[in-house]
Amino acid sequence: MEASTASTFSPMRQIQHWIGGASSGGTSSRGGAVYNPATGRQTGEVAFATSADVDAAVEAAKSAFESWRHSALTQRQNVMFSFREMVSARRRELAETLTAEHGKTIDDALGEVQRGLEVIEFACNIAHLLKGDYSEQVSTGVDTYTIRQPLGVVAGITPFNFPTMVPMWMYPIAIACGNTFVLKPSEKDPSTSQLVAEMLAESGLPEGVFNVVHGDKEAVDALITHPDVAAVSFVGSTPIARYIYETGTQHGKRVQALGGAKNHMIVLPDADIELAADAAVSAGYGSAGERCMAISAVVAVGDAGDRLIEGVQARIEKLEVGPGDRPGVEMGPLVTSDHLERVRGYVDSGEKQGALLVADGRDLVVEGHEDGYFLGPTLFDNVITDMSIYTDEIFGPVLSTVRMDHYEEAIRLINENPYGNGTAVFTNDGGAARKFQNEIQVGMVGINVPIPVPLSFYSFGGWKDSIFGSHAIYGPEGVHFYTRQKVVISRWADPLHRGVDLGFPTHG
Ligand code: NAD
Repeated sequence: MEASTASTFSPMRQIQHWIGGASSGGTSSRGGAVYNPATGRQTGEVAFATSADVDAAVEAAKSAFESWRHSALTQRQNVMFSFREMVSARRRELAETLTAEHGKTIDDALGEVQRGLEVIEFACNIAHLLKGDYSEQVSTGVDTYTIRQPLGVVAGITPFNFPTMVPMWMYPIAIACGNTFVLKPSEKDPSTSQLVAEMLAESGLPEGVFNVVHGDKEAVDALITHPDVAAVSFVGSTPIARYIYETGTQHGKRVQALGGAKNHMIVLPDADIELAADAAVSAGYGSAGERCMAISAVVAVGDAGDRLIEGVQARIEKLEVGPGDRPGVEMGPLVTSDHLERVRGYVDSGEKQGALLVADGRDLVVEGHEDGYFLGPTLFDNVITDMSIYTDEIFGPVLSTVRMDHYEEAIRLINENPYGNGTAVFTNDGGAARKFQNEIQVGMVGINVPIPVPLSFYSFGGWKDSIFGSHAIYGPEGVHFYTRQKVVISRWADPLHRGVDLGFPTHG
C-alpha cells in the first residue's frame, strides 16, 4: 500500500470521502497516490480516513437508519429503480473512470458495470424476498408469522479488481433491505465510488444512507471494530478475509468475508480442444488475470495436453496488449508497479524451479507506454504442484499447465487445494461432467464454462479458504445476510381464558 502525505501530491486531483450526503476531505494528512496503470503516471490522490472520519460516517449512517428502516418498501425500490436507470445511462463514464485507474479494457469495464447493474435490478424487486411466512391457527386462536428486518449500519470493504461491481454486490441489496451503508473501497482505484455516491444522491437516496470512506488498514480496523457497525461484507485476498472475519466476529458483528482463489480447469481427452483453448485463454488472460474467477491452472488429462498447449500458444500470440482505452486492445496492464514486480517474480521463480516456459510475457514493450505496468501473456507447461507458480494466487496473466494421467488424480488435486472459489471441466462425456459436479470441493462449478459466475438471482461464493462466514454474497443469500428474521406468535380474541399455566407451551 503506497501512502504519503497529502502535500506531496498537490495540486493532484483529490478523491474525497462521501459522508452524510456530501464530499468530505476528512481529518487526516495521510493520502494514497492513484495511478493510471497504462502510463505509470499519478493521476490523483485519495484521502485516507482516520478513525474520527470513520466515526463520522458511521454516525451519519446510524442517524439515517432511524428513518430509512421505516421508509416504505416501494420507496426503497423506487430509489433503486432510478439508480438503475442512471447507472445504465452513465455506464460508459463509469467504465472509462475505472479503466483509467484499474487498467482493464473498456469492454471489460463495461461488462463489469453490467454485472453490477444486474444486482441493482435484483434489488429493484427486493420486496419479493422480504416476504415472510404465515401459519394460521397453529394453536387455538394462535397464528405464527415471520418478518425480515434490517440489521442497521453495514460496512463493505472491497478489492481493487472490480472497483464498481464488487461494491454493487453489497450496497444495493443492503440498502433495499432497509440498512444504511459505509463503503471502504480499494485505495488503488477509488474514483467510481465517488461517482456512484453522487448517482445515489441524485436518485433520491436520503443523506447518510450511503457513505464512502477511503483509506487503508486504519479505516478498515475502525470499521470492523466499531460498536455501531452491525455487519461487515468483505471481498479481497484470503489473509485479509480471515483477519476481517476473526476481528469482526470477535467484535460481535455478522461477517461474510470472501477471499482469494486458485481456479483449476480440467481438460479431458474427449473435450472439444478448440473450445477448451478459447476458454483457457479468455479465462486466464482476461483482465490480465486479475479476476478472482480467473483460471490460473489448466489440468490436462492424458493426451489432451499437447493439443491444448498448441491451441493456447497459437491464440496468445495474437492477443493485443496495450492501454485499456485503445480500441482493439484485448488485455491491459497490471494495476500497480508493485504488483507487476510481484507477478514478474513468480515468472522468474517458475522458470528457476524447472517449469517449461512456453510463452514469456516479461519482455513485452508497449510502444508509447513504456512506463505502463504491462506484462504479456505467459504460459507454463509441466508445472509441478510444489512450485510457487502453482501454490500461490499470482493474480496476473500467467497460466500454468499441470499434466495428469487420470481424471481421478485431477479431481483429487483440486479437492486438496486450500482454495475453492471456481473451477471448470471441459468434456463431452455427461457421466464425467456429472462426477465432477458431484465430487468437486469448490463453490462455483463450470461444465464447458470457464468462469462460472452466477447471475444476480443466485448467490456468489466459494468454499474453503475462498470464503469465511456462512453466507454467500448477493442474490437470496445477500438478502438473508442483510436481514434478521423475527418470528411472531399472536393470539387475538381467544375465547378460552385458561388462567395461569407454568407448563411449557404446547399446541392444542
Ligand atoms: P486485498 O485483500 O489486498 O484488499 C482488499 C481490501 O482490504 C482493500 O479495501 C484494502 O484496502 C483492504 N486491506 C488491505 N490490506 C489490509 C490490512 N492489512 N488490514 C485491513 N484491510 C486491508 O485485495 P486486493 O489486492 O485489493 O484484491 C485482490 C484479491 O481479492 C485477490 O486475492 C482476489 O482473489 C480477491 N477477490 C476475491 C473475490 C471473491 O469473490 N472471492 C472477488 C474479487 C477479488
